[in-house]
Amino acid sequence: MEDCLFCKIISGEIPSSKVYEDDEIYAFRDIEPQAPVHAVIVPKTHISSANGITPENSRAVAAIFEKIPAIARELGVDESGYRIVNNCGADAGQTVMHLHFHLLGGTQGGKLY
Ligand code: 5GP
Ligand code: ZN
Repeated sequence: MEDCLFCKIISGEIPSSKVYEDDEIYAFRDIEPQAPVHAVIVPKTHISSANGITPENSRAVAAIFEKIPAIARELGVDESGYRIVNNCGADAGQTVMHLHFHLLGGTQGGKLY
């Protein structure tokens, strides 16, 4: 996707602070962290939002969740705890239309719901 910010981060066209990368996924520090630990985890394949997840591309979503424990460990929050957040669409405040999951930790925020 030519004009997608996260596709450009994945390709290296826009620099980022990488946390983890493999063939299927890329994780990097959020530029405007909302918690002491705030990473963004994306599939390398362009999926616009949670609404775009299908049986054909859901392997990338599984890959993200399979790697979340290791990413949380790497960031030092696997024991203390963390939250995984996906914002889908305007009402949820999604600003970048490339599916992503926020990993937020390092603070005792408690439940949001
Ligand atoms: P959303 O608001 O769509 O759920 O999440 C998009 C996230 O991307 C925001 O938390 C925002 O701070 C982050 N972000 C936007 N532009 C950049 C960037 O150029 N680099 C990095 N590392 N994060 C970005
Ligand atoms: Zn993209």
